Amino acid sequence: MVTEINTILEKTIIKQVNCILCNSIDQELIFKGIKDLEYETYKPVDYLLCKNCGLISQYPLPEINLLQRFYPDEYRNYLPVKKSLFTSLKNTQFKNLANKITKYFNKDIKNNDLKILEIGFGNGQLLLALQEKGYTSLSGSDFTDRVFSSLKEKGIELKASNIEERFPFNEVFDVIIMNNVIEHFLNPKKVLENCKSNLSKNGIIILITPNTDALELLFFKNYWAGFHAPRHTFLFNEKNIKLVGKDLGFTEVITEPICDPGQWSISIQNVFQNLSLTKSKLKNGMSFYLMPLSLLFTPIAIIQNFIGKSTSMLCVFKQELSRISTAK
Ligand SMILES: [Zn+2]
Repeated sequence: MVTEINTILEKTIIKQVNCILCNSIDQELIFKGIKDLEYETYKPVDYLLCKNCGLISQYPLPEINLLQRFYPDEYRNYLPVKKSLFTSLKNTQFKNLANKITKYFNKDIKNNDLKILEIGFGNGQLLLALQEKGYTSLSGSDFTDRVFSSLKEKGIELKASNIEERFPFNEVFDVIIMNNVIEHFLNPKKVLENCKSNLSKNGIIILITPNTDALELLFFKNYWAGFHAPRHTFLFNEKNIKLVGKDLGFTEVITEPICDPGQWSISIQNVFQNLSLTKSKLKNGMSFYLMPLSLLFTPIAIIQNFIGKSTSMLCVFKQELSRISTAK
């Protein structure tokens, strides 16, 4: 009886939550008790699915004072860039990504003059890959200064700041990049809005984010690596990310499938970590079998790109034309 009442109450409360993208109240608590099987930083969390636009959002959203705790020192995105098989594979991945994103850069501006900002740059591998391609006006912001010392000598302008509170720089940028970052914020729309008002004429915002239409979500459900619980708060697909762009007044949002085999290997690792029989000791949230598994699943992840169910997606937000004349 008590459980029934609780269920009814739960449903009533959830019905009152409007989707942050489409404002629909037709949201359902589909994904319950998603564990942090990578770092074990927090209790299991739940996610709502918006039946109207497909947005998946953590419910309730985490308290702001908890966020630091979700990113322990061993968090792999802050691993210093040094010689290892993992970083050299990652380097190749970042070089490919740099090639992919630079084709959207404004070719009317010389490489040296193009002002590029990466928000949430982690250990800086993408910024370094861009530097190697001849882009020198590089800036980065992250909420922690853990890896700053290793990057400062490379001439990259760095600031520790939480963009949800304020934009980290007092200047405009031609390109603002967020690589697997937008899904971590408590208010992703506000973040995009802040970025938009700091874009130059013809500036662009580039996002890479997990795709909720990915094949792996169907397979792995609560173990899907895309949840990265409790760190991921909002998860998008092609349809609703375009909705955000339209809502914020961008003229165009281009999306492109991105192949990230790590979404397969980490999902499998999550399944194994949940069972005492197959649980192993992780280092930086990674098991000994993670890399071979990623390699094994690369062909599948590539095929997904062609069937509209890619692991991740790249989204390019183009500045609103009508605002160009009044832009800073
Ligand atoms: Zn919605």
